[in-house]
Amino acid sequence: MEISTLRIPALLLILGLSFSHCKTKSDSDEEMLLLLAVAASKVCANSSFTGTTVVNSTATLDTNTDCITGMTSSMSADLPAWIRNNFKCSVGSVSGSNYVFRSQNIPNNKSFYFGSSSPMYVALAGGQKSAGNNQISSQCLVYTIPSSPAAKSGTLVGTQSGYASVGITVNGLAIFNNAAAPGDTLATEAQTFDTFNGHPQSSGVYHHHSQPLNITNNDSKLIGMLIDGFPVYGLNCDNATAATGDDGAPGTVGPALDSNHGHTANTVLFPSGIYHYHFASDATAGINTLIGSNFHGTPGTVSN
Ligand SMILES: [Zn+2]
Ligand SMILES: [Zn+2]
Repeated sequence: MEISTLRIPALLLILGLSFSHCKTKSDSDEEMLLLLAVAASKVCANSSFTGTTVVNSTATLDTNTDCITGMTSSMSADLPAWIRNNFKCSVGSVSGSNYVFRSQNIPNNKSFYFGSSSPMYVALAGGQKSAGNNQISSQCLVYTIPSSPAAKSGTLVGTQSGYASVGITVNGLAIFNNAAAPGDTLATEAQTFDTFNGHPQSSGVYHHHSQPLNITNNDSKLIGMLIDGFPVYGLNCDNATAATGDDGAPGTVGPALDSNHGHTANTVLFPSGIYHYHFASDATAGINTLIGSNFHGTPGTVSN
């Protein structure tokens, strides 16, 4: 149902465009094919990609997938176990030397920003205020992330370089950098975080700068992956054991963090050690954030 309603306006647009040109039949046909190809590359929410487009007023949680009903949650068999066993609510695959994730970017937690008519609505916590009239909306985020991340030599790439997102959480959501909208600091903007520490920007892209509270709460859980391919964890480092009693702050467990919130240490998922980021204090933001001002590795690409 949703698929056909979605496609009708796109088809009308395509037909309208091809009819508006006075060309021979063969030219029009060619143009039609081109237009269809362009339209197809932008379509994200269909059965082949990320599922049916989520509509806030009817959004509910699918208890089997723990994602919003209708969203595809699929990780291809050729992805490594640390991704297959931990990532959901997006569509992950391997393409050459990259991982590719497609995401509608709808949170699997309740939020003020679904709007009060949504089954997924929950009021803001006391003292918080709305980010204007911003509301969550379905996106077409496509991440292409190097599968063999490596430290970048020379000048590092800044995280504030106009990326649509700087990483993806294990539940398929955008990670944003340590900066707020111009004129604000993130410490101020944090007043608009919902009860799970996320908020949408003006075009409805829901995102986290801070720890996503339905994934981690001051513990050592895996949060996601930044677009340079390195994983990002919660406040603590897991000490490469499943037990949590020996978890601790980086510096106590593993080396102290570098200026990009990262260090190389052994973890449960990477027993022989890997560079990884932590949710940590950030001088630019004035609060703890998931990422600092620079990537440790070479970032891949993100489109929306
Ligand atoms: Zn934000
Ligand atoms: Zn660590």
